[in-house]
Amino acid sequence: MAKKKKVSFKISKLLFGELAVLILLTLVLIYSNTRVYQSRKMEADSVKSIGTSANNVSPTPTKPVMEIPEASGRRIRVPILMYHYIGGNPNPEDIGRDNLSVSPEKFDEQMEYLSKNGYTPITLDTMVAGLSGQITLPEKTLILTFDDGYMDFYLNAFPILQKYGFKSVLFVPTGFMGKTAYLTWDQLDKLQGSGLVSIQAHTFNHAHLPSLSEDQIKFELIESKRALEQRYTIPVNFIAYPYGASNQAIWNLTKKAGYLGALGTWSSVIQSEGTIFDMPRIKIGGSFDLNQFAIAI
Ligand SMILES: [Zn+2]
Repeated sequence: MAKKKKVSFKISKLLFGELAVLILLTLVLIYSNTRVYQSRKMEADSVKSIGTSANNVSPTPTKPVMEIPEASGRRIRVPILMYHYIGGNPNPEDIGRDNLSVSPEKFDEQMEYLSKNGYTPITLDTMVAGLSGQITLPEKTLILTFDDGYMDFYLNAFPILQKYGFKSVLFVPTGFMGKTAYLTWDQLDKLQGSGLVSIQAHTFNHAHLPSLSEDQIKFELIESKRALEQRYTIPVNFIAYPYGASNQAIWNLTKKAGYLGALGTWSSVIQSEGTIFDMPRIKIGGSFDLNQFAIAI
């Protein structure tokens, strides 16, 4: 009897040990699966964020910038400055947006600096004419670009640009116009009518182009251009790639879609014929002081 008890005790001890290992393995498996799911979800969310929740999370490129073209052919020095929000950040938890937001006070200070130091902001069409040698550009020139078509461009940036008589380039994802925090078509009409703002394409859905099929890329490139050209009966010659994401195949498709050039987010102040379908820009960070701004341009 005692022997039997001892055996069954040994068996149950053995079973208990195996059971514990099994439970532990299951828990590890569940934990790692959750982690994989969460990191995939975070990646997907951050790529889509601007389309789904403009007020919550700012767009952050999670994938590395694909390819950077070689500077070649004719080249000129024209810094293209890149802005997103001109306004405060309503959500302090959105750290990504902090870096993309320049306060109206700082922006005014920067524009005043440009004005006092003899800079002439030009449009992309003028820059391309300068690059090809058709015209001679002013000595101190640059391009002011604003991505995403946020309403704060109309409310905060435009009055300051008007004050200095500065031209600017606005890239709008046409599918987002009229949504919360984005420009309405009515506001866009007024900006276009001012003669100071060159409205250019930024795809239809603010799409991460390298993630799409060729047909989807073609739609994003063509539809945004078509909608703006139809409304304003002027050629829309340029597009900014959302997240700065592009590659050789996308440069070719952009050219085929009828664009004269496109803008990326990699950094340089030199524009060249070789980089015309992925032009570099200078990002003006939200934390820049005037000294940093002056050095950057
Ligand atoms: Zn964008």
